[in-house]
Parts: sequence; C-alpha cells; structure tokens
Amino acid sequence: MFVLRRVLQAFLVLFFLVTAGLYFIWYQLNPSPPDQQVFLNSMVLTMDQENPTAEAVLVEQGIIIAVGSEEAVLSQASPEAEHIDLAGKTLLPGFIEAHGHFPGSGLSAVAADLNSPPIGSTLSIKDALSELKVMGDATPEGEWIIGFGFDDTMILEKRFLSKEDLDQVSTEHPVAVLHISGHMVMINTLGLEIMGITHDSKDPTGGEIVRDSKGNITGLLKEKAQDPVVAKALNLSLPRIAEMLKKSQQEYLEKGVTTVQSGLTNIDKWKPLAFAARFGFFPQRLVIWPDISMADGILDGTVETTDSEKLTVGALKLVSDGSIQGYTGFLKEPYHQQEPDRDTDYRGYPTMTREKLQDIVTRWHASGRQLAIHANGDAAIDLVIESVAEAQQQSFRSDPRHILVHAQMMTDGQLKKSGALGLTPSFFPSHIYYWGDRHFNIFMGAKRAEHISPMRSAEELDVRFTMHNDTPVVPIDPMLLVENAVERKTSSGKELGVSQKISIESALRALTIDAAWQVFQEGNRGSIEPGKFADFAILEENPLAASGKLRNIQVAQTWIGGVKWFDRNQL
Ligand SMILES: [Zn+2]
Repeated sequence: MFVLRRVLQAFLVLFFLVTAGLYFIWYQLNPSPPDQQVFLNSMVLTMDQENPTAEAVLVEQGIIIAVGSEEAVLSQASPEAEHIDLAGKTLLPGFIEAHGHFPGSGLSAVAADLNSPPIGSTLSIKDALSELKVMGDATPEGEWIIGFGFDDTMILEKRFLSKEDLDQVSTEHPVAVLHISGHMVMINTLGLEIMGITHDSKDPTGGEIVRDSKGNITGLLKEKAQDPVVAKALNLSLPRIAEMLKKSQQEYLEKGVTTVQSGLTNIDKWKPLAFAARFGFFPQRLVIWPDISMADGILDGTVETTDSEKLTVGALKLVSDGSIQGYTGFLKEPYHQQEPDRDTDYRGYPTMTREKLQDIVTRWHASGRQLAIHANGDAAIDLVIESVAEAQQQSFRSDPRHILVHAQMMTDGQLKKSGALGLTPSFFPSHIYYWGDRHFNIFMGAKRAEHISPMRSAEELDVRFTMHNDTPVVPIDPMLLVENAVERKTSSGKELGVSQKISIESALRALTIDAAWQVFQEGNRGSIEPGKFADFAILEENPLAASGKLRNIQVAQTWIGGVKWFDRNQL
C-alpha cells in the first residue's frame, strides 16, 4: 500500500511538472497582449480608402477597435490602456506574402547559398564548388549536400553544373543543386544512382532529363524530372527543419511580414506545418496552398482543413509552365536568344497537358474552392484562361478569385479576359530588378521585356492584383518590391517598361489589403480598421514622402496580434 502511494505521488508530481512545462513553453511561444493598447504619435497609413490616414490606433486583446485622431482614439481608451509612443514613425498593416514558400528562405541555415550578386557572391563554377564542399563537411553522413540559388546565366562560364563537377564535391554524399528558378536541379553521379536515373531513362511528361550532344546524361533535370529529386533531397531531419524555421521567421519579421505563405505544400508537409503554425512555433499567420497531392483528400473530406486565426488552408496550387530565365516558360513566340542546343523556334513547354489542367480546374472550380495557377509565359497564361473559361461555362461563379501566379508575360488582352472571368494576377516585379537586363538582352528582347509584370495595365483595366517575392527564389523584401513596381529599374539601373510604373499607394495596397483580399482574408487583415487583427509594420519613414530609395526604408517594429515580435532597437 505504502509503495503504491509513493508511486502515485511520484506520478502526480511528474504530471504536474510536465503540464507546467508545456504551459510555460506555450506561454513563451504565445504571449498574450495587454487588455488595451493605444498606438500614438504616428503617421497611420490605413490602406482603407474611406479613411486613408490617421494618427492613432486603439487595440483590445490583439484586435483593432478604433482608428482616428489622437483625441478621438484616446477618448475611447480605458485609463489603464498601455500607451505606445511611435515617435513619429509610420504605421502600416503588416505585409502579407501574396506568394512564397515559407520557411524555404531558412534553407540557408542548412544548405550552401550559391546566389550570384546582387543576392550572393558566387561568380564562377569554382566558387560554387568550394561553397558546396564547405557545406559537405558539415553534412551528416549519407545525407544530401544541398546548394540553392545557382544561376547559370550569372556566372563566368555561363553554364550549368555537370555531374562531373558535382562528383568533385563528393562521391560519398548525393549532391543536389537547386537552380534559382526553382524549376531545375543538378545532381552528382551518386544522386543519379539513388534516384534510379540511368542512360535508358525516358523523359517524364512535362519534364526533361538533359543529355549532351552524344546523348549522355549531364546531371541536369528540368521541371517534372526534378520533382522526385527535390522531394528526396529536401526531406530534412527535424533538427534541420527547426533551424530553417527559426531563421526564416526572423527574416520575415525584420521585413514587417505578418502573414506568410507556403505556396505549394504536399500531403506529407502540411500537417507538421499546420501544427507549427497553430502551436506558435513561429509568430506569423500562415496561408497554405495545397498541391495536387492533397486535392482528392480535400474534395472527399478526408483531409480536414479548418481555418484558425493562425492558419488558412487556401487555393489549390497548380503549375502550368516553368520559368522564362530557365527557358522553360511556355511562350507564344520563340525565345529571343536560344540556348546553343535548341531549335530556333523553341518556345518552352507546358508542364501539364491541356486535358489534365482542364480536368482539375473544372472539378476544383465546381466545388466552390479557389485555384492558384503558376503561369509565366503568355502561352501558359492562355491555357489557364481557357481552362477557367471552360470551368466558368459549366458552373458559373461570380467571385472565384482564382489566382494567376507570376503572370509575367501577360498581355493586355489576357488581362481583359481575366478580369471578366474573376481571375486575379499576383505579379513578381522582382523579375525587373533581378533578371530585367537579361530579359531585355537574352530571353525576351526589348519589346516583350518592357511589358513584363504589366501592373499599370492591370490597374487601368480594373483587374485587382498583388505582388510577391516568391521567397526563397529571391529574399523576402516588401519595400524592394514597392521600389521595383514604382521605378521599374533593373539591378544595373536601366528603366524597363516606363509605361507600366504604378504609384507608391497602389504598390503598398498590393502588399496589404489587396493581398488579404486575394486570399479571402480581407475581413480580418490587410488594413487598419476596427475588427481586424493588430498586425502592424512600423516603418522608420513614410514611404509616400520618402527622401531616398524606397528599399532603404527600414522596418522599426513588427507587431502580430498586438504583440511586438521585432524591434530594431533591440537587435
Ligand atoms: Zn513559387
């Protein structure tokens, strides 16, 4: 009896300690805001067209309850309300990532960064290989050595890495180098063996196992041929995932981003990600775009996707072509300058057949849900428009908000059709900055390059749009996006498509209220209005009255649900 009592006591103590420990962790991860907070002494850009500016904001338990002049707001606040003096800084709704792959940017914590300037420092094959070797030394036995951000058009040799190059990095580890476009991968001989790719392997539909002029496999895999490799190489261990999450959430906080997106999430990844978002392993709100592997489960109800304040499971993400700078964007006219082994009339290819695209678009649209379809080339954009038109014909919906992701070569005619069908583009104007010079000289030629990311046309045709960095394709940087949209300057300083410039106000809307609207979340975020989450980006300077470069305006603080998660003064 005595022993039993001792055991029971020990059990109770243990139970108490575990519960207290879990509560402590939960509280650390999810601090609650004070009852009331008044944000004062600020220039508030509300993104609410009825009341575009204000002086103060009153927040109650993480939700905005009043916006207006200091006098009006203070008169509604309780005497105990905490006063937050913003010292004249500008308060904006927290930025919303309209399209990206959170926490992909944290990959730099576990993989070699092979970006070339202006993002990184890789200038040659030699640079890339030595970075990979350094990463190889830190990679546990048997795991993949991963590199990312490699851009063949930016290095001295102007070519891809071959399997022979990568064999110099390691013959004991498989090596995978992700191309900056996200649409191709280069692997070493061991990697090919592990993936079962041999001389006799056939190209998968919508993909290429690239061969040299003698028919030998080079180690470069494009589009559908890269998918299994990426899935295998990025199947990281838990400690490596935790490192990625830690790194990426901080990068987003420092840029004032309060809603992040995992814009192509598969059936294996979505549950851990959703758990991490709900439990507060990162403070941002998360939007998941399921990929095709989740589609049937969502349609038949076996995949449960209830939304919460921290998590939205939204549009089904499909990919209809590749990337222009990877020569896999699907165009109506041939590329301006072709790669050496290509025919002169090569114009890229679709990654999904018309029939397959139509089938899933029709079924998904008829279920009342949203689609987000990647399309860069104008021929791919046509495919998307035609399939949505057909789906609308069969079951009309007045406001489906299907998203055309990137819409890089979208023509004015396509914008008009899209508006009528309820399609909304999310543009990637960083293309102008990072690839604009090469679009002009190499891929698209002058005329087409001037028209990439046609945001002014969209505005004039009354087609609501957003913009994104597609991080980790390029680093998360909302203010650089604003500058790209407003100035349309390439990284060498050349103006590209002056007639497509938009105003700073429009650009800010595309990152806040329009980005909330595009994912059906405009009721709870995207502007400073009563009833919405107190998610704020506090900027050092008002972008509408910026004295210098827009990209140099720093985020001073980032607040999510009334909790300050980032303060530049405390770095
Ligand atoms: Zn993407």
